[in-house]
Amino acid sequence: MKVLLSKEDLHDGVMRMADKIAACYENRQLTIVGVLTGSVVLMADLIRLLDLPMRVGVLQASSYRGATTTRGELVINSELMLDISGRDVLLVDDIFDTGHTLVQVLDKMREFGPTSIRSAVLLRKHGRQEVDYRPDFVAFDIPDEFVVGYGLDYEDMYRNLPYLAALEPDDIARHEATMAETQM
Ligand code: 5GP
Ligand code: MG
Repeated sequence: MKVLLSKEDLHDGVMRMADKIAACYENRQLTIVGVLTGSVVLMADLIRLLDLPMRVGVLQASSYRGATTTRGELVINSELMLDISGRDVLLVDDIFDTGHTLVQVLDKMREFGPTSIRSAVLLRKHGRQEVDYRPDFVAFDIPDEFVVGYGLDYEDMYRNLPYLAALEPDDIARHEATMAETQM
């Protein structure tokens, strides 16, 4: 796989983003909400770099893709989420691609009456956005390639890679072969 961001690159970028977040919320208590499952690695690193009083929670957003051309309907499960009413909230996700996921999750969260709500993402894909919204904090802008690692998956695999890699056709062929072997 082609490595786009090494473990060290990721650490540096997340640290830079953490510094900006810390400056923004100085002397305030923060409620951080991670979108499952892609944000778990970023969440684990980010919260330990933030020297702020904070509460940590999660919610789940899954899109069910039907026909290949139509965008899958997004299902948001906020039952896991902690109470955010009257709180300063930071939503954390892995990647801002078209932007529809983040916008829909933010709309849902606003229903619970937070005092403020901002967003932080590890990645933003170049030239893909379809929404009139920008995340408040972005660690890296990347080219329009399908990426895995550091929380991001392909068919639920590769989230544990410590680096970020682009998944290319050869990699997908190798993935299929490995799956056929290891699932027996
Ligand atoms: P959006 O709604 O912004 O188009 O898509 C956001 C979601 O699509 C992300 O949370 C992620 O689950 C998935 N996604 C978009 N681009 C990529 C990518 O390059 N790699 C992976 N693994 N997931 C992606
Ligand atoms: Mg996701």
